[in-house]
Formats: sequence, structure tokens, C-alpha cells
Amino acid sequence: MSSEQMRDLNEYDVLVVGAGLAGYAAAISASECGASVLLLEKMHTYGGSTAWSGGAFCFADTEDQAAAGIKDCDALLRMDLTRGGEEKSNPELIDLYLTRQREIYRWLKGLGVTFTPPVLSPGQSVPRSHGASPRVLLDLLHEHFLRQAHCRYIAGADVLGVERDGEGVARILRVCISGETNTLAARRAVVIATGGFSRSQDLFKRYAPWLENAKRMGGEGATGDGLKMGIALGGDITDFDYLEGSFGAILPNYPSPKAWSENDTTLMHAEYSGAIVLNKLGRRFVNESQSYRKLGAICLKQPGAVAFQLFDQSVMDTSRSEPVTRNFKAAFDRNLIHRANSIREAAQIMGLPADVVEAEVAEYNRHIEYGEEPAFGRNSLLNGEGKPFPLVNAPFYIYACTTGISSTLAGLVANGRMALLDTYGDEVPGVFLAGEVVGGFHGPISVSGTALSKAAIFGKTAGENAARFSTSVNAGL
Ligand SMILES: Cc1cc2nc3c(=O)[nH]c(=O)nc-3n(C[C@H](O)[C@H](O)[C@H](O)COP(=O)(O)OP(=O)(O)OC[C@H]3O[C@@H](n4cnc5c(N)ncnc54)[C@H](O)[C@@H]3O)c2cc1C
Repeated sequence: MSSEQMRDLNEYDVLVVGAGLAGYAAAISASECGASVLLLEKMHTYGGSTAWSGGAFCFADTEDQAAAGIKDCDALLRMDLTRGGEEKSNPELIDLYLTRQREIYRWLKGLGVTFTPPVLSPGQSVPRSHGASPRVLLDLLHEHFLRQAHCRYIAGADVLGVERDGEGVARILRVCISGETNTLAARRAVVIATGGFSRSQDLFKRYAPWLENAKRMGGEGATGDGLKMGIALGGDITDFDYLEGSFGAILPNYPSPKAWSENDTTLMHAEYSGAIVLNKLGRRFVNESQSYRKLGAICLKQPGAVAFQLFDQSVMDTSRSEPVTRNFKAAFDRNLIHRANSIREAAQIMGLPADVVEAEVAEYNRHIEYGEEPAFGRNSLLNGEGKPFPLVNAPFYIYACTTGISSTLAGLVANGRMALLDTYGDEVPGVFLAGEVVGGFHGPISVSGTALSKAAIFGKTAGENAARFSTSVNAGL
């Protein structure tokens, strides 16, 4: 890039780092507030973990819920968020989510996003997972952003750090574009929307060694860059004790020793539609209706940290296009799920002891017909809702899975304006945060679908405050 071109890049009010859902929400809202915006993405294309996600958004009291006859309200959502977070979530972030969630749902719909009828997911009192195609969503956001005046997107722009200017405002980026490192100054402020750190071995070794055997599933750029930038600026961090994996990461090539690669990122939740979960010994080992975070921790303790989901045609018939975690038909078409004429054959496909599996399924079927099985106390499909049923309707299906790190719900500390806070609780001037890089929202057990909704809600908020930042500087920082 010529020095003239680099000079042009210093003409923007707001610099947004990372082009996932949070980055687009921030960039678009900053632009809607009148700012010129430069959006920088280190990979060759936009999307990040958002592109790999299951597309389930947690919204309450929506038109889609009403159309499906689901009654919901903010108070119920607040209760779920607080309960899931075991009262440890940052109340400012919970308030922000609740204040803006319906507005953001409508904003996404206004951009052309369509949601499938909500389904029940872990941590939700009523069905709230509104499924959308992540790639369609990202394309819509990208096109919308490019249509804004005075906005520019650059891929292959690796932001290496954030520095303070002469006024002490952290709005100078060190960025490497086409192999050359330069500095870029925002006229107003910077938004860090770099996602999580599920692809960083170093950070996992340091913060969550108990997840060493979990499969890494976030976008390739999820290496914790924003976290390191925030820490270098004196930013505080939170929630690292709560890091957990998600159960249901498919092992496409099992039982081959190379059962997976870093690029297989399919999460599938047949357990919540009625599948049973077995270990390598052919035995059930868990109540399948629990949160996938809890199942994830238990799965890692099984032999080889592997599990098998076994189900029948009745479960397959519940397949739906969105969220993709329930799209069993698509997974079957991609050979991720295997079909068998009998339970015995299904067990043999996965190299499981067929006699044990047959006996296990027979035992499960015998009890579940009458409401609850005594071994693990399963009496619902999920969250106390839905009645499990005997697996008797051939053909049968099986797939191998493990625990994956789809998102890291720990990160930098922000307030309700999405400003980065230092260890004294003061704002680091000039830096706003959005999406997975933010910690403090979820607490120990996240409510399903909130990571995506949060990315959009926090992104919109960060973008608005970044666009208005010069005013707050003049007003007295
Ligand atoms: C397989 C899978 C399934 C999931 N399913 C769901 C689901 O159904 N519901 C839900 O709520 N959540 C889900 N999640 C989690 C959710 O997708 C993420 O938490 C969310 O998309 C994060 O959005 P983000 O914009 O913060 O980050 P990302 O989408 O990861 O975007 C961050 C971007 O920043 C870029 N970047 C990073 N560092 C730099 C740098 N130094 N310079 C420039 N750019 C940089 C990255 O390359 C990336 O493009 C899932 C995640 C995965 C992986």
C-alpha cells in the first residue's frame, strides 16, 4: 500500500477491528450515527466464528414467537439469564441485553434476515432460539455496510496492537497490511470486535488446561488478539474460571485415528430431540437433557473423550433447516451421520460392543416408555420439556462426537456503554468492545443463543458510543 493510500486510511472517525457479527453491527451503527468507518479484518474474508455458528439467536417476546403461539417476556428472559449466570453476570450487561434485544431482532429482520420458528434450547424457559443462516446474515450485513457513505472494508488487515495518542486516548492501531506494518489513527475511537480465543493453544494452556482435549471450533482468526490488546492497555479480564466446552462437536471420520481436523466445525444436538448418548464401552453415562456445557465437561472424562449419539427415524423426522444444530438431514447428506437397519449394525459401524449397546437401548426403551429411566433420571428432552420416547422406529442413526470449544465466554471487562474498563473500573478512553471479546455476561452456564444476540446487541452499542466519543472527550474526559 502506498504512503498516500495509508494516509487516506487515517481519515476515518471510527476504526472497527474484526468483521464478524459484532464488528458489522458496530461498523453499521457507527456509520448510522454519522461517523466514517474503516472495518479491518485480518483473514482473507469476513465472518469469523459467526460464519461457523449454528445461527441460533436468543430473543424474547418476538413476532416469531407470537406466530408460533409462544408466550414470553423480558422478565422471564431476565430470570433465565440471571439463573444461568448463577447471579454472577455483570448486571449492566444483562440490562443492556434486555433493553435492546427486541430492537436488534427487528433490526436484523429489517436487513432481510429471516428466522425459523423458535426452538427450545438449554437455559431457556420457553422456545427462544430463532434460527438464521449465518452466511446469509453476514452477506446481508456486509452489503449493507458497503452501501453506507464514507465506509470502507479491508480484508487481510491484521491489527497488531492499540496505542494511546498524545491526549492519552487509545485510538492508534498498529496494523499489518500486505506484509507492511503501519499505524492508523482514528479521529474518534476504536472498536475491538476480534471474537474469542478458541484457536489459541497458549491462552487455553494458561487459562483452561482442563479443556486441552477439546476440539477447537471457532473461526481461524479466533486467537485472542483483542484480549491481548485490551490487557496491554490495562484492561481488566473476567470469567476465566467458567471456561467450558460445548458437547456435540461431530467427529466426521471416526473411528479413523484422524477423526477430525481444525476445519470441521459442525455441532449437532440430536440429544435434545430424543437421541441417547453412549460412550466407547457402549454404555449411557449421562442424563442427556442437561445443558450442552454440562454434557461437554462430562464427555471429556469418558474414555477417549468421545461419545456416540444413537437415534431412530422418529428423531430424524424432527430435522429442520435452522438452527443447523438440529439439521440432521443435512448432516446425514454430508455423511456426518450414519444410517443402519438395526441397533446392532449402528453399534458395529462405530466399533462399539454390539451386545452391550443392544442391551443398553432395550433397558432405556423399557423405562422411558413409562416416563423416567432410573439410571440417570432422564425424564425430558431438554429443560424439563418434551417427553423422551423409546428408540424403536428403524432405520437407526449414529454419529461420533466430542466436546468442542465453539466460543470462549470469558474476556475483557466492559460497562453498559461497551467501553473497556481497566482494573480500577475506569474507562480506557477511546476503546469500545463488542461480541465474544467481552467477558462478564454469561457467568458459569450460558443461555443458548445469547452469544450471537450479544454480538449484535453489544456491537450496535459499541458502534454508537464510538461514533459519539469525540463529544464525550470534549465534554470533560
Ligand atoms: C461451531 C459454532 C457454533 C456456534 N453456534 C452458536 C449459536 O448457534 N448461537 C450462538 O449464540 N452462538 C454460537 N456460537 C458462538 C458465536 O458464533 C460467537 O460467539 C459469535 O459469532 C462471535 O461473534 P464476534 O463478532 O464477536 O466474533 P467473530 O465472528 O469471531 O468475528 C471476529 C472477527 O475478528 C477477526 N479478527 C481477530 N483478530 C483480528 C485482528 N488482530 N485484526 C483484524 N481482525 C481480527 C477474526 O478473523 C473474525 O473475523 C457458535 C460458535 C461456533 C464456532
